[in-house]
Amino acid sequence: MNDYFRMRTEFSRASSAKQAEYMDRFVRRGYGTSHWVMEQGDTETIASVRESEDATEVITKCSRRVEKSEHTWRGRYRIARAGESWEIVSIETECFVCDGTGTFSGSDCEVCKGKGWSSD
Ligand SMILES: [Zn+2]
Repeated sequence: MNDYFRMRTEFSRASSAKQAEYMDRFVRRGYGTSHWVMEQGDTETIASVRESEDATEVITKCSRRVEKSEHTWRGRYRIARAGESWEIVSIETECFVCDGTGTFSGSDCEVCKGKGWSSD
């Protein structure tokens, strides 16, 4: 998994065609990749990994510098075993409206439907 993020950062500097090629290698076929373009200067590191019987959940910390300030958010990946290897089956990002809490102004957040995560 660490390799994955290292490569991703590498490829973020390459063309989007290269990124697509790379996504093919790691992500389950048919899973949308349209949201997947990293911009130069973005970083993403693994914050925690939780394994269960048939899947692994990885929480990451992403950051992007916007002029003089730094914007940070979390990502959540679900990874399933695929034979000897593994593949990413879902990619979600922390809801930017409720900051991942799932509630906004005392009721369920309308953007993420109370989940705290959105899959774009
Ligand atoms: Zn929300």
